[in-house]
Amino acid sequence: MAGGVYLHIPFCKSRCSYCDFATDVYRESDAVERYVNAICREISSSTVEPVSADTVYFGGGTPSLLSPNQVEQILKVVSGCFDLADDTEITMEMNPATVSAETLSGYRSLGVNRASFGVQTFNDRDLKLLARGHDANDARDTFRLLRNAGFENLSFDLIAGLPGQSLDDWERNLNEAMAMQPEHISLYLLEIHQGTPLAEQLRSGRRPMPDEDTAAGMYEVMLDKTSANGFEQYEISNFAKPGYESRHNTKYWRLDPVYGFGVSAHSFDGFERYANERDTAAYVRRIEESSTAEVMREQVDSASEFIFLGLRLNKGIDLVEYRRRYGADIEQKYDLELRDLAEKNLIEIFGDRLRLTRKGMLFSNEVFEAFV
Ligand code: SF4
Repeated sequence: MAGGVYLHIPFCKSRCSYCDFATDVYRESDAVERYVNAICREISSSTVEPVSADTVYFGGGTPSLLSPNQVEQILKVVSGCFDLADDTEITMEMNPATVSAETLSGYRSLGVNRASFGVQTFNDRDLKLLARGHDANDARDTFRLLRNAGFENLSFDLIAGLPGQSLDDWERNLNEAMAMQPEHISLYLLEIHQGTPLAEQLRSGRRPMPDEDTAAGMYEVMLDKTSANGFEQYEISNFAKPGYESRHNTKYWRLDPVYGFGVSAHSFDGFERYANERDTAAYVRRIEESSTAEVMREQVDSASEFIFLGLRLNKGIDLVEYRRRYGADIEQKYDLELRDLAEKNLIEIFGDRLRLTRKGMLFSNEVFEAFV
């Protein structure tokens, strides 16, 4: 089974008010060069024999702050250490106002064939609240640049449930996103992380708390609008035109191997999960000293992960596949839980598959807890 390669690029132009990721503010400097050299060194010392892979994903942070030369340096090492399929999906996360026509054409010529584009919202007031460092026109301009550079597989990230955001605001966002016709959309409900500036603004009452009922309504509107515009929901938060599902992200939900490199990157090799150091300077130092920055390794209870990750997918999980992999029947093992969830109309068994209902998508955490 072909795996995926994840590369974490921890630099951003500025810090968004809701973000708790491992990111540093980007400046053209030796620090970025040192980081690129470190991630290349980590990749090249990670495998003895090339492992087959058919996805490469530059995530962050803002990977589109790297120059095409730096991306080329990393991709060369990846293709030396992994046996990449001819049709490998190579995705780069990009933020508005971080790219030019030249850099985009550089990425395309290196084989980057998918862009995951951090739009978040087309409302300038909300972009300010989120301290995104760009406005809605920057997003529109960058989208045009991406299309002109030949990107035919574009994904938008949108965030719902912002403080003060109404259902009408959300609908306007969706209408604009639909009119631009990306191939893929990811919807995230805003998560409040303690210690971030946004959490402090909410705590002090300077911003209204997001309203859960409105957020649920936004999810419903999203389901209706995407389906009316030819998108298929294939995962709780992800919608794609036919054939444009994210091959890389699907590997996480199917428990396929994904090898992560860079600061705070997580990996799963089919048996164990392991993770790197979370601090960028410490990561670079450790790689320079010993070629590894691993700080955590654990066995995975893959039988229960297979259930709650697989349930995120619209088609749910294959009960026959579960029996083949783990030698047990889900229906027997979780008899009580399944009956309770079915009575609440949160799950359904459809042929050989167990899946969430539309209501179950909204209350997915309650379902997942039953299997942990
Ligand atoms: S661009 Fe993304 S990773 Fe960077 S600070 Fe903003 S939310 Fe965090």
